[in-house]
Amino acid sequence: MLRNVLRHSSFLKAAARANLPSAAAYSAPAIPEPITSPDIPYTGVFINNEFHKSESGKQFPTINPATGEVITMVEEGDKADVEKAVKAARQAFELNSDWRQMDAYDRGQLLNRLADLIERDAVYLASLETLDNGKPYSNSFMVDVALVVKNLRYFAGWADKIHGQTIPTDGPHFAYTRHEPIGVCGQIIPWNFPLLMQAWKFGPALATGNTIVMKLAEQTPLTGLYVAKLVAEAGFPAGVVNVIPGYGPSAGAAIASHMDVDKVAFTGSTEIGHLIQQAAGASNLKRVTLELGGKSPNIIFKDADLDYAVEQAHFGLFFNQGQCCCAGTRIFVEDAIYDEFVERSVERAKIRQVGDPFDLKTEQGPQVDEEQMNKILSLIESGKKEGAKMCFGGKRVGEKGYFIEPTVFADVKDSMRIAREEIFGPVQQIMRFSDINDVIKRANATVYGLAAAVFTKDLDKANMFAQGLRAGTVWINCYDVLNAQTPFGGYKMSGQGRENSEYALRNYYEVKAVITKLPVKNA
Ligand code: NAD
Ligand code: MG
Repeated sequence: MLRNVLRHSSFLKAAARANLPSAAAYSAPAIPEPITSPDIPYTGVFINNEFHKSESGKQFPTINPATGEVITMVEEGDKADVEKAVKAARQAFELNSDWRQMDAYDRGQLLNRLADLIERDAVYLASLETLDNGKPYSNSFMVDVALVVKNLRYFAGWADKIHGQTIPTDGPHFAYTRHEPIGVCGQIIPWNFPLLMQAWKFGPALATGNTIVMKLAEQTPLTGLYVAKLVAEAGFPAGVVNVIPGYGPSAGAAIASHMDVDKVAFTGSTEIGHLIQQAAGASNLKRVTLELGGKSPNIIFKDADLDYAVEQAHFGLFFNQGQCCCAGTRIFVEDAIYDEFVERSVERAKIRQVGDPFDLKTEQGPQVDEEQMNKILSLIESGKKEGAKMCFGGKRVGEKGYFIEPTVFADVKDSMRIAREEIFGPVQQIMRFSDINDVIKRANATVYGLAAAVFTKDLDKANMFAQGLRAGTVWINCYDVLNAQTPFGGYKMSGQGRENSEYALRNYYEVKAVITKLPVKNA
């Protein structure tokens, strides 16, 4: 089994370039060959460090988006499986459990060990991610898996550095705070970065000593289940991490409304974010963190380096088939360079390599499924109908799989659907501006507030935008620079709470005040 799994010491070297996500970096020769037909040994519901059949006996197919064909059947976890998983997670959280009694340092070591195993199996995991999700293997390997490893190691380092305060207090008393794990954490993740979203949620929850019931996205369950096996191999005690493949309205909803789940963390659409918060409110007021949609502005001034800004705007939108919550989908370009910017963006889109995601030259694979493809195509139609100028693309590519041409719209008005709704596909909107105060208002005129970017060589302008943009991340002269060390999350309807960084830890611990009477009043 898994004889195909390669071990590559060149992994981290290749991955170090993951922060240079240009087309050139992706085709760098250092990337090891993918495994195009990986073995798939793990398709069950993972509870107490073992794989189980679903309680209902039901299974569901996971599809290869490059062909539309079924890859394999997966056990379909639902409410009954969530029930079992929550019991396991609760038991693992009992005060005298191995997990609760473990030294914080050892918790960190387990996370490091998990990172080691993911690194060992990087080629296999990147290949499986590409098969199930459709993203180019070069991205899966150089970006997704590389960032997973860094993320887990970052949070491993935090495990023994999470501590409270000592507080001088009134009377003959001494007070201190303990940062304690919240308990059983429900985590519901999406399909656009299956491995990375799993790591973003595992890292802070485990570093702080919680236990987990995670539901994977139904479109992309395979890599998350393989990582579950690595969790057991790393030596985490049974029940600390439980992973359920299954659908949202059944398994996902059962987590969000469960009376014995202490916290729920969700990444996905704003629409479902509302349901999660409602379910938490209607059940046990569990803590809620949400990482939701976006319609991020990217503002390009005439003093920016034009070639670089065009490439970054292209990357900031088309990366991951446009399936990024922080995609820069509203590109505001200053009047004086507008026509040239559009022209160069079209030239760039024309040479974007769309095709077989296992081909190292490919920049863009298929959309994740037929539903997403059709949603994107219908939004493209709405753009045409509402009078935007379609400069390039707009159609499905071929008949097999869910590929869409890189699409560029110019003369986009703020009121159009393509300028307001999350498209989650390879569709670029380029709009015009002339006044700096006006463009800040337009950039902020959205229900979302996940990310924003500005390209300019003028420091005063950059600082003005850094303050004025209502978004959780503002990039200046760059796009999609996401690290374990920097917080990520939304203003407004893009969510609440932060992923990554020290701030993410705050979503995973309770603060307990302990006050002790001192024998003698201080003189
Ligand atoms: P979704 O929000 O339905 O799915 C995200 C996760 O939530 C999946 O695991 C899903 O099974 C689960 N879920 C669905 N319904 C649920 C419920 N009632 N209770 C609990 N969990 C539930 O997203 P989608 O349908 O896959 O995609 C729709 C749109 O969402 C996309 O077009 C895109 O605009 C947006 N989206 C955003 C992100 C992001 O990273 N913020 C990721 C995926 C999709
Ligand atoms: Mg799939």
